[in-house]
Amino acid sequence: MQDKASCIVSMGSNMGSREDNLKAAVRRLRSDPHIFDLRVSSVYETSPVGYLDQDDFLNICVAFKTDLEPEELLDLTQKIEKEGLRERHIHWGPRTIDLDIILYGDLEYESSRLTIPHPRFRERAFVLAPLCELTGMEYELPQGQEIRRVGQFEFE
Ligand code: ADP
Ligand code: MG
Repeated sequence: MQDKASCIVSMGSNMGSREDNLKAAVRRLRSDPHIFDLRVSSVYETSPVGYLDQDDFLNICVAFKTDLEPEELLDLTQKIEKEGLRERHIHWGPRTIDLDIILYGDLEYESSRLTIPHPRFRERAFVLAPLCELTGMEYELPQGQEIRRVGQFEFE
């Protein structure tokens, strides 16, 4: 068995009960037997960039260790996305939950379905703020992206 890798996954939701969607994804990830020592950042609310005609997002990052290979971790995060969709929406439509793999140790990896580090994370304040909070890494936040820290989830 390989050593466990320290990973960061970013999660966002802007449909339905955004808080419940994020919490469900955290619970699902945390309860997987291949995920260890999971920590959750504060919750941030951000205005959409790009497509402005949609609701504000809630965003978090989670840090954990895993013995999954990168593509296996993507299988897991995509499964969690699909479960979130299936529970709440029968028809095709915008996703209630988005999980992006931001960092996998210091690995640089590229395949047809996975790029690590996530290619756009340095441009996204909603990734950088919770990432810095969890890891102590220091990034300058990009200008002009509104981001509000709105609290911390409580898990019973
Ligand atoms: P976005 O997150 O940019 O809004 P999607 O969630 O729809 O877009 O992801 C599109 C594709 O990105 C996925 O099918 C996945 O295979 C690919 N992908 C590449 N790198 C990553 C990564 N680091 N984390 C998650 N998905 C990734
Ligand atoms: Mg994604």
